[in-house]
Amino acid sequence: MELIFELSKRGKRGDTLPESGIDIKSVIPVKFLRKESLQFPEVSEPEVARHYTRLSSLNYHIDKGFYPLGSCTMKYNPKINERIASLEGFQEIHPLEPIEMCQGALRIMYELGEYLKEIGGMDAVSLLPSAGAHGEIVSLLMAKKYFEDRGEARGKVLVPDSAHGTNPASSALAGFDVVSVPSNEGGLVSIDVLEKLMSEDVACLMLTCPNTLGLFEKEIEKIERIVHKKGGILYLDGANLNAFLGIARPGDMGFDIVHFNLHKTFSAPHGSGGPGGGGIGVKKFMEPLLPIPRVEKIGDRYLLNEKIDTSIGRIHSFYSNFGIMVKGWVYIRILGDNGLRKVAQNAVLNANYLLSRLKDYYEIPYGEGRCMHEFVISCESLKKYGIRALDVAKRLLDLGFHPPTIYFPLIVKEALMIEPTETESKDTLDRFIDAMIRIRKETEQSPDILHRAPENTPVRRLDEIKAVKELKVNWFSRDRFLNLSERKI
Ligand SMILES: *Cc1c(COP(=O)(O)O)cnc(C)c1O
Repeated sequence: MELIFELSKRGKRGDTLPESGIDIKSVIPVKFLRKESLQFPEVSEPEVARHYTRLSSLNYHIDKGFYPLGSCTMKYNPKINERIASLEGFQEIHPLEPIEMCQGALRIMYELGEYLKEIGGMDAVSLLPSAGAHGEIVSLLMAKKYFEDRGEARGKVLVPDSAHGTNPASSALAGFDVVSVPSNEGGLVSIDVLEKLMSEDVACLMLTCPNTLGLFEKEIEKIERIVHKKGGILYLDGANLNAFLGIARPGDMGFDIVHFNLHKTFSAPHGSGGPGGGGIGVKKFMEPLLPIPRVEKIGDRYLLNEKIDTSIGRIHSFYSNFGIMVKGWVYIRILGDNGLRKVAQNAVLNANYLLSRLKDYYEIPYGEGRCMHEFVISCESLKKYGIRALDVAKRLLDLGFHPPTIYFPLIVKEALMIEPTETESKDTLDRFIDAMIRIRKETEQSPDILHRAPENTPVRRLDEIKAVKELKVNWFSRDRFLNLSERKI
């Protein structure tokens, strides 16, 4: 498979614009004129169309097949979202348009905020963070300012050892010391340990619920009391909201802040499919700190409030990823509260169906045969056949499935983390189960097949370290691109 730069031939064009008849030098001062050509590839329109269509079919994506990537909630993204988000009035809107001309857009932002408030049981929402991790760091900066404003020195954030890597990373970036909370033998927060670790130096406990093992924190009320008794903030990493959407509300459980992943729970495409949305919901006492601008409604008019002295300030250019907000708004409007509840019920049902059919073939160390919206297999016991989680994942590619998340959460050895989501049919789940059982048999009977996998994909096993160690990101240089093309598809 050639790179677009390799298809390039001097003089080929994809446009048919007439000559302007204007001498550029008479309009633009010479000092501003480009000295060298841009080195863009020169190709015809059909070549462009075919090149990208070919690339899109090489890639694996949710419109192509099952994508049980644990923690990432790769649900099918309804096409109606795209239709509405690409309406001219949304797509062509300019962030510098006068406020009177974008009342419709502001209404969408305001209403989505109201829906998320209701879903989360929170008092105020900001849609500005553009991903879950961004929501985390914005929230932690708010927590930091909150305690600074009160003259309290709290330098620590508690993070369970099953947490997503973004939790400790965001805490450290916001200037906190990260203290890891070990899980108990059941995979949940150990109440005794939490009680010892929680002190008046701790700003916040970042909790994921259900956690990354797919288990609900049954002692959430105790956890809430422990954190609040010492004056700390209770933060919900809401990436797993799909498990209890419309059934329970973080605010009612005592969470002070929650981030929503619009691109996971609320069906905006992600995983190279588009930008994200990581809005946050907060309780009343944190509202003054929310980033600016804030969308407000006075009478039937919407406006943007940029002057809030108590705010942590701006965290994004303009108003963040507006198209993602439209998609989330459409999704919620279409499903309504009953529909959202069914999303969660079916997500949990699908995960438990997979778990119950696979538990005789694979070791599932936590949860005692039950889970919420996802569960984690350990491939540790396959090591005696020379097989690792990575081999199972690669073999799934050959059998037509995107592999589950591997080697996460870190507390499970040789982890395979499976999240089917609610959008998959029983037929699809059965085909996946068949593939997993087949792989389990191959582990003992023909491990070589697993070691060789994948054989049917555009590229074989990639060197996983090289891309990190030899990052090449000079996008505009044709030569650098050609260097990258040593591998042949
Ligand atoms: C995805 C995820 C995050 C980070 O969210 P992004 O939107 O990818 O930045 C944080 N925590 C958990 C549990 C997640 O699954």
